[in-house]
Order: sequence, then C-alpha cells, then structure tokens
Amino acid sequence: MKYDVIIIGAGPGGIFSAYELMKRRPGWKIGVFEGGTELEKRHCPIDGDKIKSCIRCKSCSIMSGFGGAGAFSDGKYNITNDFGGTLYAHIGRKKALELMRYVDQINLDHGGEGTKLYSTAGTDFKKICIQNKLRLLDASVRHLGTDINYIVLSNLYDEMKDHIDFHFNTLVDSIELLQKEEADVEPAESSSAAFAESAEASSETSRCHNSRCDTSRYRIHFEGGAADARYCIVSAGRSGSKWMEKVCRDLEIPTKSNRVDIGVRVELPAVVFSHLTDELYESKIVYRTEKFEDSVRTFCMNPNGIVVNENTNGIVTVNGHSFEDPSKKTENTNFALLVSKHFSEPFKDSNGYGESIARLSNMLGGGVIVQRFGDLARGRRSNPARISECTVQPTLQATPGDLSLVLPKRILDGIIEMIYALDKIAPGTANNDTLLYGVEVKFYNMEVSLDENLETNHPGLYVIGDGSGVTHSLSHASASGVYVAEIISEPSR
Ligand SMILES: Cc1cc2nc3c(=O)[nH]c(=O)nc-3n(C[C@H](O)[C@H](O)[C@H](O)COP(=O)(O)OP(=O)(O)OC[C@H]3O[C@@H](n4cnc5c(N)ncnc54)[C@H](O)[C@@H]3O)c2cc1C
Repeated sequence: MKYDVIIIGAGPGGIFSAYELMKRRPGWKIGVFEGGTELEKRHCPIDGDKIKSCIRCKSCSIMSGFGGAGAFSDGKYNITNDFGGTLYAHIGRKKALELMRYVDQINLDHGGEGTKLYSTAGTDFKKICIQNKLRLLDASVRHLGTDINYIVLSNLYDEMKDHIDFHFNTLVDSIELLQKEEADVEPAESSSAAFAESAEASSETSRCHNSRCDTSRYRIHFEGGAADARYCIVSAGRSGSKWMEKVCRDLEIPTKSNRVDIGVRVELPAVVFSHLTDELYESKIVYRTEKFEDSVRTFCMNPNGIVVNENTNGIVTVNGHSFEDPSKKTENTNFALLVSKHFSEPFKDSNGYGESIARLSNMLGGGVIVQRFGDLARGRRSNPARISECTVQPTLQATPGDLSLVLPKRILDGIIEMIYALDKIAPGTANNDTLLYGVEVKFYNMEVSLDENLETNHPGLYVIGDGSGVTHSLSHASASGVYVAEIISEPSR
C-alpha cells in the first residue's frame, strides 16, 4: 500500500485533514487508518438492562471509530482561543479563529444548518459573575447536539468514502522512518531546510502524487500489513495517548508532561441553570478558591442532557451528553466541575495521578460513584435509599457512595466552595439533592514538540488534535486538521 498521505485516527482531527486534502488535492491518494469501526457500527453494549456498566470492550465504541471521541459527543464547537486548546500558540490567534469558523461552515454545509450559535458577547452574566467572584470566559459556541453531530459525520463520510481509503479496525502499531538521513535534520531547521531541499529536487509532477514515485518517508505497521507514504499525519486523540507516548519515544520526538483535570459531574434540575443555558448554552465559568487559590471551572455543560460513562484505557470515568431532538431531552442539566493539577519535578506523570484517583473510584464503586451534595456536606455516604428518595432523578446508573473517600481534600474543598459560589448566580445549585458523579477526569496527552506547522522534528510527520497535547476540543482538533492539510498541499511542499 502506497499513499501520498497517511492519516492515523478518524476523529475530528483526522476527518478534517482528510476532507481538506480531498478538496485541495483531488489527485492524491490518501489512506486513513482507524482502530475503531465505521460510524454506523459503533455501539456501546451498555443498555441499562442486561449490561449495566462498562464491560471494557477491546475497542471502545464511545471513544474510537469514525468520528473519534467526538462522535457521540454533544457536538459543542467552541469558537474561541480562551479554552479548548493552545492551537493559537503555534499558528496565531487570528488563523486559529479563522479555521474554527471555516470548520463551522463545513459542519453547517453537511447537515448542521439551522443549529444555534450562542455567544457571550454583550451578555449581562459577565457582570453578575464578577460580582460573585466568578469569571465567565468569552466564546461563541455552535451547538450541534449529539443527533445532528452524528448526521454531519455521516454526511462527511459519504462525501469522502469514494475518494479516500478508510481502513477501519486497523490499529496502527508503529511508525517507521524510511529515510533516516532526512529525519536526522536538526529540529530547528527541519521544516524549512529539509523541505526546501527536497522541494527543489523534485518538480510538482515528480512528487508522490498517486503514489507513482518513490519518495515515501514513512511506513506504518499494523496487524497483517504495512503502508507507506510521503506524509504522515497522526491524530490519535485521547484514546491513543499511551500509543502516542510510545511513538514519540521510538522516534525520539521530544515531549513534555501536561496537566490533568480532576473533579465531578454535577446534575441538577434544568430550571436551576436555565437562565444561563437559554442565553449562552454552555458557560465556562472559573472560580479561584479562597482556601488554596486553585482555579475550579465549569466544563461541558449539557442542558436537559444525560450523564454517561466514559472509558479511557480501561478506566471508567464520567461525562455528559445532550440532544437537539426534543423527545430525547431530560429534565436535568449536567456539567463538570474540574480542578487543574500541574506537576513539576520530580513528578511528571500527571495522567497517572488522575488515573489512580479514577481507579480508586472504580475500586470502591465498581465504576462511577454518585453522591447527593447534602450527604457530601454532612460527611456521610449516599446509599440506594437516599438516592431513590432524591428529587433529582439520576440519568446515569451509578453506585451510591462517598466521594470524599476518593478525591483528595484540596480538590474536594475547591469543588464544594465553587458549588456555593455558583449557588449565588444559580440558586439551587447547592441544594441537598444536587447529584455529584465521580470521578470526572480530563486527561491531557503529553505535549508533543511541534513547530509552527504542527510538524515534528521529522520532516513530513505531523501530529494534530488532542493526541498532540495542543488541542482539547472538537473545534481546535478539527482546525488543526485543516491547517496541516493546507500546509501539506501547498505547491512548494
Ligand atoms: C463523551 C464526550 C463528549 C465530548 N463533548 C465535547 C464537546 O461537546 N465539545 C468539544 O469541544 N469536545 C468534546 N469532547 C472532546 C472531543 O471529542 C475531542 O476533543 C475530539 O474528539 C478530539 O479529536 P481528535 O481527532 O484529536 O481525537 P479523537 O476524537 O480522540 O480521535 C482519535 C481517533 O484515533 C483512533 N486511534 C487512536 N490510536 C490509534 C492507532 N494507534 N491506530 C489507529 N487509530 C487510532 C481512535 O480510535 C480515535 O477514533 C468530548 C469527548 C467525549 C469523550
């Protein structure tokens, strides 16, 4: 198998790279290699009846397959440099926003038309937040909803499938450098010098378009085969984080450790937050705790949504969804409250720290633990009886328990403080029956050392999306995919 471009991973990063390359370079041969399945074959076996909790499938349908981790997500595309990643640090703020808007337009053209774009511009909540020691971050958010997000992905796939080779159920094992001498170029000069030389040496027609020439630089290996290409774009996302670390070790690509966010998912009656969610849909609110001056933030708000399990590398954590379809809406709203932990020398394994805490909750609860806020504040566990009497009906079947046995005191204190702060702008947040699910962990991939083209120290090898540690969201991951496609398809390359 010979390709002009190989893309590893069919999440938003990989999809938007493939889509943009197809548009810009219709003659190129592009292969997408994805460990999971096609979109329509992605089914999580949890049915709440026979299978109540995660059975740890070989390939998790929630995280893997066409659409990546974003396939069953709420489809909130946040158009902002304020959160969702640091793509702007590589490509500039203006370019990053331009690409996020471009991605938004592609989504609209593929089934997202008619969905609402919310914005914090001009909202009174900014002032109300500041008056209560909270800060509302700036953003525009396109809310596709889980159902429309699925339709957009289906339409994108239909448009691409006859032009691009999709290899599903193909977990890439390793990436091999075929032209070592080029790869040995110093990182600082990599993209400019090495590429300038190779571009001079080959004319536009003699490059490996349609795989006719012999300039493959990369060979990927997978069970039962291998494939070669001149360019390799890695978009392995969060589920590919461990594998990405191995690739970086094997190819001597520098990395640095990143952060981990730990907290809980809050579920309460939708009316408590409706004044905020009706106007802004998703509000990112940050609070600095009195006690430790840690930042606690709201994350992934799902008005009238459901709480779901998430499986990352076999560890069950919690997340949330919501739907555009009125028939699927619930009476609850959920959102995460997260505290960021950064570590410095000698400890580097921030994800390992998050995993250990999540494992502890899995050990005590067999999965996710749920607790009433009133029980947590009184220092007692929630039991099945107290949960069943609760005025908030849980949307996820989780084990009633005690989150104070799982979360470190500093993190738990920060979350409790924030709940009381939110109660001032959304009275009812600190009610006894507010449900807290734990733990929610937002793992970040270690950050791969990339230049302004998102290229590694190996010319032609790009890392995009959440797998790069640069992005942590649908819009940033997708924008990074378009960006690299633009770079690669430049005639001078
Ligand atoms: C439940 C849930 C809800 C979310 N909601 C939102 C939201 O509303 N808004 C938002 O901005 N973000 C949301 N996110 C985060 C968002 O989904 C991610 O930021 C985004 O999907 C990252 O895109 P990506 O392409 O970088 O990686 P991913 O989407 O993780 O895709 C990576 C793909 O690579 C594949 N892969 C990994 N390793 C290999 C390998 N070795 N070989 C072959 N294939 C491999 C995986 O199977 C996967 O399909 C949510 C995430 C989850 C889990």
